[in-house]
Amino acid sequence: MTRRCTRCIYDETISNITFDEQGVCNYCHMHDRLNAEYPTGAAGEARLQALVAQIRQAGRGRKYDVIVGVSGGCDSSYLLYRTVQLGLRPLAVHFDNTWNSTTAVENIHDVLKKLDVDLYTYVVDNKEYDDIYRAFLEVGVPDVEAPIDIGLAAVLSMAAEKFGVQYIFEGHSFRTEGISPLGWIYMDGRYIRSVHRRFGTLPMRTYPNMLLGDFLKWTAVLQLKKIRPLYFMDYNKSEAMALLSRELGWEWYGGHHLENRFTAFWHTYFMPQRYGIDTRLLGYAALVRSGQASRDQALEWVSQPQPYDPELVEMVVKRLGYTREELDRLMQQPHKTYRDYPSYKKTFEFLRPLFWLLYRLNRVPKSFYLKYTFPDPLPERQS
Ligand SMILES: [Zn+2]
Repeated sequence: MTRRCTRCIYDETISNITFDEQGVCNYCHMHDRLNAEYPTGAAGEARLQALVAQIRQAGRGRKYDVIVGVSGGCDSSYLLYRTVQLGLRPLAVHFDNTWNSTTAVENIHDVLKKLDVDLYTYVVDNKEYDDIYRAFLEVGVPDVEAPIDIGLAAVLSMAAEKFGVQYIFEGHSFRTEGISPLGWIYMDGRYIRSVHRRFGTLPMRTYPNMLLGDFLKWTAVLQLKKIRPLYFMDYNKSEAMALLSRELGWEWYGGHHLENRFTAFWHTYFMPQRYGIDTRLLGYAALVRSGQASRDQALEWVSQPQPYDPELVEMVVKRLGYTREELDRLMQQPHKTYRDYPSYKKTFEFLRPLFWLLYRLNRVPKSFYLKYTFPDPLPERQS
């Protein structure tokens, strides 16, 4: 029998999980620490208002106060809506990796039009981008989604630099999205470059990678500040979705992270079939911890097998130029981790005092400091 946290729904399949005497997991304790550090309610509102004043001050004489990343999903659409409500002048920024679902594209269009917000889109060359995804599938690691996250982070900073904006809002909420298990997914710009060098066939020209030099320029020299305002808001996912569709004509696309087709493939097919990992656990556990769903309800949700769309899998196979047999071979090849390839992990650990300072100055998220600058105790290779 697998041991399961008595408070949330994480079980022993979650990497680096530990339990206290009451059977409560370390991720629940992490949630409680974040909850104390980022209050909601009146205290959260006061922190938000102070932040808004600072951001307005920094945006004086400029066209925009803040960059807000948008994906067409619920979190980022809601964040943009609240940013406008707070009286800030946002520039919406979208990293188009050419795998958007139609609903996502329509959502971005409808929400921005209703809110009268400008959009800056960075589109990567689709052949070049698919080449990077292929390289990640070939090397045998789980982190196949790293290129979208690193690309998005780079594009947000590029837009801030281009438009002279100091602040960047990110639509993450630990209360609804959860805390991804330590050592589960790893990503950095050097890792992407080394994986691509190993198996890529096209030059990397338009992909917005984030190498250490860019990262330090944006955080330490230009001093761009990344803020997660949802941390201070009473953000209730189902209420937010209802509000967005009522007020902005926004449309639900059927599951967290599923607004992008490759992301949907990774969550619903790649991770469950290759690693037996159900990424829905993250979000459901978060909703339980923040009281937005009962534990029984969440257990009921995860007891249903993760559905996947066979047509989506066919589409991915075709677009990446594989046959079904080739994909099956990639799905079954030995498991590797980021440790098998050059990355910045050791550099990040060496620079831990610098990143502590950058976290204290709001230049990098606390989760980055915790996840990237400490030696990784796990995971043992599962091959
Ligand atoms: Zn727990």
